[in-house]
Amino acid sequence: MAETATTVIPAPRARVQAMMEYHPPLGSRDALRLDFNENTLECSPQVREVLGKISAGSLTRYPEREPVEAIVAAKLGLRAEQVALTNGVDEAIHVLFETFLDEGDELLLPVPTYTMYQVYASATDARVVTVQAADDLQFPFEQLLKSVSPRTKVIAIANPNSPSGSVATREQLLELARRAPQAVLLVDEAYFHFYGETLVDLVGTVPNLVLARTFSKAYGLAGLRLGLLAGPAEMMRWVRRVLSPYSVNSLALACLPAAMEDTEYLDWYVGEVLVARAEFEKKLDAAGVRRWPSRTNFVLVEIGARHKEFVERMRAAGVLVRDRSSDPGCDGRVRITIGTREQMKKAVVALHDALAALRAEGGER
Ligand code: PMP
Repeated sequence: MAETATTVIPAPRARVQAMMEYHPPLGSRDALRLDFNENTLECSPQVREVLGKISAGSLTRYPEREPVEAIVAAKLGLRAEQVALTNGVDEAIHVLFETFLDEGDELLLPVPTYTMYQVYASATDARVVTVQAADDLQFPFEQLLKSVSPRTKVIAIANPNSPSGSVATREQLLELARRAPQAVLLVDEAYFHFYGETLVDLVGTVPNLVLARTFSKAYGLAGLRLGLLAGPAEMMRWVRRVLSPYSVNSLALACLPAAMEDTEYLDWYVGEVLVARAEFEKKLDAAGVRRWPSRTNFVLVEIGARHKEFVERMRAAGVLVRDRSSDPGCDGRVRITIGTREQMKKAVVALHDALAALRAEGGER
């Protein structure tokens, strides 16, 4: 039956009606993808091999997460009870917030940061407390400490952060954990491989520390949807109550050990990106484009008032970049993912052309 203007549908919960909407620009991405901080090339050939061998029969079974959790935990130097695999870090964030955030609680966030923290918080009855980073977009440590209250229940820190590319030190994170013992400190290490520093050795020792890792970035498996949470076993038991036992599908589970095993591929890709980043940063400096120091596979740059036109011009040249202007404190700023050296050469040409066009039109850069 066709819907008419008078069709009445059941109303969702008030909380859902008030939820923040998030529609990532995923359409028409058949170009150089420097917009979502993904691996811009491909996953390990060993993962492809596993995928090719998956039988039709094996797909008839429900996926079994635990054996793969044990493998992943061992690789991270953790116990299986300390690790939960998730359908990407997004599900990890969702489940963690559903597990811990109640009415009257506060989620403490430095901003700008990863959008989904606020989206999933808006599905709970907790209040979001944000701390704005200064213009240098460095981690606002002192302000965060001052904003910890007895109601702080979760503190979410992307380390390295997006879209800034900045980092918090190990000491700062530990101090936050100490100053808010009643709160879960989520340290989201989505970009760990490009940074190299981690708190994984402290999982289980620091009682309120939970780490997240994704396989969407360096590993090149964004399409498979794989992430994990690691924390004290007792805390993970509660998380597992909320987490669906089947949310990580069997293709993803089959591929994960191969992905982690192939450190040669991972090291190659990360090394390539780091060299490409250094080269790209030099080009930005030479072109007089302001940029923020990055410890990740992307760089935030200042384009100015005509950021939309810049992004459109880049797209027309076959290079997708991400306008971050609506992020708090990011007006006029655009985030550019770093791919391989070869890919970034194309990006540099497109960037020069786009900037020249904006300048020729006499606009602000
Ligand atoms: N955390 C951060 C900081 C991210 O930037 C992203 C990806 N945009 C995610 C988590 C989400 O990762 P996943 O693909 O595993 O859901």
